[in-house]
Amino acid sequence: MKKIVSKNNNWITFNTPPFVNTGLKYINEAINNKKICGDGPFTKKCNEWFEKNFNAKKVLLTTSGTSALEMAALLCNVKPGDEVIMPSYTFCSTADAFVQRGCKIVFIDIRPDTMNIDEKLIEQAITDKTKVICVVHYAGVACEMDTIMDIAHRHNLKVVEDAAQGVMSYYKGKALGTIGDYGCYSFHETKNYSMGEGGALIVNTNLEDIEKAEIIREKGTNRSKFYRGQIDKYTWVDYGSSYLPSELNAAYLWSQLEIAEKINNSRIKIWNKYFNEFKQLSEKGLFEIPFIPNECVHNAHMFYIKCKNLEERTAFIDYMKRNSIGCVFHYIPLHSAPAGLKFGYFFGEDRFTTKDSERLVRLPLWYGLSDKEVKTIIDAVKEFYKN
Ligand SMILES: *Cc1c(COP(=O)(O)O)cnc(C)c1O
Repeated sequence: MKKIVSKNNNWITFNTPPFVNTGLKYINEAINNKKICGDGPFTKKCNEWFEKNFNAKKVLLTTSGTSALEMAALLCNVKPGDEVIMPSYTFCSTADAFVQRGCKIVFIDIRPDTMNIDEKLIEQAITDKTKVICVVHYAGVACEMDTIMDIAHRHNLKVVEDAAQGVMSYYKGKALGTIGDYGCYSFHETKNYSMGEGGALIVNTNLEDIEKAEIIREKGTNRSKFYRGQIDKYTWVDYGSSYLPSELNAAYLWSQLEIAEKINNSRIKIWNKYFNEFKQLSEKGLFEIPFIPNECVHNAHMFYIKCKNLEERTAFIDYMKRNSIGCVFHYIPLHSAPAGLKFGYFFGEDRFTTKDSERLVRLPLWYGLSDKEVKTIIDAVKEFYKN
């Protein structure tokens, strides 16, 4: 166990979960309605909000981003021994969902500019066992989706978008999560919009798949059809699990969706401030800042810098901590983790995954972070790089 460092009053947390006052009101409403299990009015409102605003065929709230990925893996109908291509630089859930189905994970390298899967390396990794390409829109910045969808079509592969970080981000005008066959959102407390633990699955394929998704989400029953009055009793029709979240969580999320634009603008404002303040230093080569391709509209999920190397990053995080600022790094590349070694392998050369993951550090960025706090953080970064 790591010792907990006591933090003073001026401590700037790395993350604070989003909260808006109506959240409490809506949770109360759900309780007073005596409807706190899944698929009540708040869940419906959230699903419809995403469908309408993101022009998505079908959106289903889930208990987490992880469970949305698990549902996507089930819908892909993968079998033990099938191969799934994904970046190694991601959260373990991206791989777990397919590992659970007995798949072999083929990790490939990232592009250093966006930290996304390098679309130019995908085709070489395809074998006759490959069934799925699972992309991750890191930091809410889209992967090169036209190229990836073209590869998938030519090789008859499914595309799953891990858009856990990509809610309110776009690629050529299309909302992330609505481009591949299935999209997965997360509403974990570290994400732009949160319900504590929660997520959503987006089904972009066809009615048959939508029906299958509803069945998987409802313990293998056709209860969704029953609720719509399409059948007069419901029964167990296929395999499934329980992937629908409580109304209490959906009510909390709804309070943020109502002001999603405002939350997004406030995050963008902070992100732009970091970007503009650090532009010069990055041009001088002191550290690197994020790159947003022209095709992408991002959601300011994250602001990171890339230090020279691991040693400098350790010193940086330590320096920020001494200045009462919480900065964190991620991810330990999956292919080098114990489970990654067991369930997959790295295809090709690891040019950037390990090297750049060791250099990246995230600055605080959350809804409610004050101008004063942002200034404190910027000053501390500049001070660190003065020496
Ligand atoms: C957060 C995240 C997940 C997992 O989402 P949960 O809601 O925590 O299960 C998966 N993939 C990526 C890239 C994430 O950032």
